[in-house]
Amino acid sequence: MRRALSMIAAGWLLTAGPAAAMSRPAQWSRSASGLAPASAPSTVVGYGDAAVFGSPAASDATVAMTPTRDGKGYWTVDVGGSVSAFGDAHDEAPAGGSMAVNAPVVGMAATPDSGGYWLVASDGGIFAFGDAHFEGSAGGIKLNAPVVGMAATPAGGGYWLVASDGGIFAFGDARFEGSGSQRGVVGIASTPDGGGYWTVSSGQPLAGKVVAIDPGHDGGNAGDPAAINAPVFIGNGYKACDTVGTETADGYTEHAYNFDVAMRLQALLQAEGATVVLTRTNDTGVGPCIDQRAAIGNNAHAAAAVSIHADGGPVGGRGFTVIEPLAVGPNNGIIAASDVLGSDMVPAFEFATGMPTSTYDGTNGISQRSDLGGLNLSTVPKVLVETGNMQNPTDAALLEDGQFRQQVARGLAAGITDFLTSP
Ligand SMILES: [Zn+2]
Repeated sequence: MRRALSMIAAGWLLTAGPAAAMSRPAQWSRSASGLAPASAPSTVVGYGDAAVFGSPAASDATVAMTPTRDGKGYWTVDVGGSVSAFGDAHDEAPAGGSMAVNAPVVGMAATPDSGGYWLVASDGGIFAFGDAHFEGSAGGIKLNAPVVGMAATPAGGGYWLVASDGGIFAFGDARFEGSGSQRGVVGIASTPDGGGYWTVSSGQPLAGKVVAIDPGHDGGNAGDPAAINAPVFIGNGYKACDTVGTETADGYTEHAYNFDVAMRLQALLQAEGATVVLTRTNDTGVGPCIDQRAAIGNNAHAAAAVSIHADGGPVGGRGFTVIEPLAVGPNNGIIAASDVLGSDMVPAFEFATGMPTSTYDGTNGISQRSDLGGLNLSTVPKVLVETGNMQNPTDAALLEDGQFRQQVARGLAAGITDFLTSP
């Protein structure tokens, strides 16, 4: 899916500082989705001593720009890879022959002498023009998240690419100095000596997205067996409305754990701009039934839904499992997307928590089932995460620790964000 990309003219501020800042070509690129109406013409605005030499007559959305060495010109590029040159910037022929863009162009950077430039596409593909040398690309790598920007080294012998999950790819004389500590990254810039780089996140990568959070079980379930044992249709049969859940040897209940993690996750997702829908808003009620838990996410047209649980597994077994739906009819349309969500969730959760993948359930942290009503009846991408094993002493000690529960929430948020921000 092609994302709507637009260049933010105010970003020119980054290159419009004092003369010292212009002693080499400053590179920047920035993209964001849906911030400019499609009908607005692409416009360059200059601030301070930044002169305007023209604006692109792009037929496609303009996504990035880079100035010439002396600041008396600049290039812009649109999402389809069409470059416009202004002032003393020259049109340059592709260094490697013709270019075929398979993914939206998201960034560009000029060489130090302004004799050429590179373009980067969201699939990591690099296109070199003029005296810009091709030093490698991420085009052949299976990316976990789309590339969103690039920065050239001061010597022009290499470049960094950054993906929206904070992943950095270094080529040529660009040195890898670290990566991966941010989500929702939208840009990268090099330090003047090339010894480091900054990455910047959008702050609200989930703006406009609805996420459904389903904390499993409920605090009042044990007190109302008639209600929670009532059978409900789950697409391929009948199952109890809800269950009580498990607890640790210390008596820390799963429903309390699930709700605590859900509150933490809600806060993290809201900070990323998401609209969060909960299947229950306290830990003292009964239910809702599993069919209603699915319906809440469906009715909200959630872009992703996650059920939070902790398992009552074998005492000697550790770890987490992401349970994906198998097709049973009502959920046929979300099997593939739920598998992507699950595949994004496992590494994100493992990275954030250090919790191992389950030693007793599933394969490499993933299990697929057709007997869970909340997954059977979902019409939005959904997984159920057994975040640890409450019966295991090592896992239980972690699950009882508030700091660890925050890491659990971070892991779930990262998996959801990866899913919702990947192409
Ligand atoms: Zn449970």
